[in-house]
Amino acid sequence: MKNKLKNFGLCYIFLISFFNNAEKFGDPGEIIAIKASSDDIDKYLTVEINESLYKLIPLPFEKQNKSIYVNDEKININQKDFGESRITIKNNSMVNLSKEDSDRAFKESKIIQKALNNYSKFLVPDLNFISPVEGVISSRYGKKRYINNQPRSPHLSLDIAAAEGTKIISPSKGEVILVGDFFYSGNFIVIDHGFGLISTYSHLSSVLVKENEFIKKGQKIGEVGSTGRVTGPHLHWTVYLNKVRINPESIIQENFLESLL
Ligand SMILES: [Zn+2]
Repeated sequence: MKNKLKNFGLCYIFLISFFNNAEKFGDPGEIIAIKASSDDIDKYLTVEINESLYKLIPLPFEKQNKSIYVNDEKININQKDFGESRITIKNNSMVNLSKEDSDRAFKESKIIQKALNNYSKFLVPDLNFISPVEGVISSRYGKKRYINNQPRSPHLSLDIAAAEGTKIISPSKGEVILVGDFFYSGNFIVIDHGFGLISTYSHLSSVLVKENEFIKKGQKIGEVGSTGRVTGPHLHWTVYLNKVRINPESIIQENFLESLL
């Protein structure tokens, strides 16, 4: 009997270690939750789910069919077909840029990049995001993009079409870290939610917040418009975690945190 128990115990230990070492898989653009230790708190966005501590790791779109490593843990990123989106932009100067416009767009991309790199480690993000606007999804995350039949970078954002002037709210609390009028994005807002979680809002007709302003979840930040390079009024909404663009539809689903387990 004693031996049987011992065998059972060994078998149990073997199974536990087998499952702990089992390779992890996830879809591109999603977030994966990995058990965290107290050392991780300063380095990662960590959350408590069902009384255990997890660190949240974004899975980059570009790493499909490849693996990433977090400390010693291997995470495999699946290949996924997100479909394609073909749009026509009649204004040729918005597609084949003049020297002046391409210089402007380049300068602006540096300003935006700088903002994305400077997130706060003091703000603790509220991960229960709500949708920033009521409308119809017109282009999902991950679509292969063609503009006037020319292949472009994939669309790693969510487009929500709504009438010009429809209110846009902040999906979570945060600090406004950039407001501007940019060549591609038009009137544009960047919100820092803390610990590498950042969201951006493009093509607005009006902006109601200022840089360095702290905003609450649900606060009106602007209105839907068609500024910058667009085919019609919509919100182009991008969400970053640690500079990786993630699928905004995932973070607004109900029970988002529980869905990560
Ligand atoms: Zn878009």
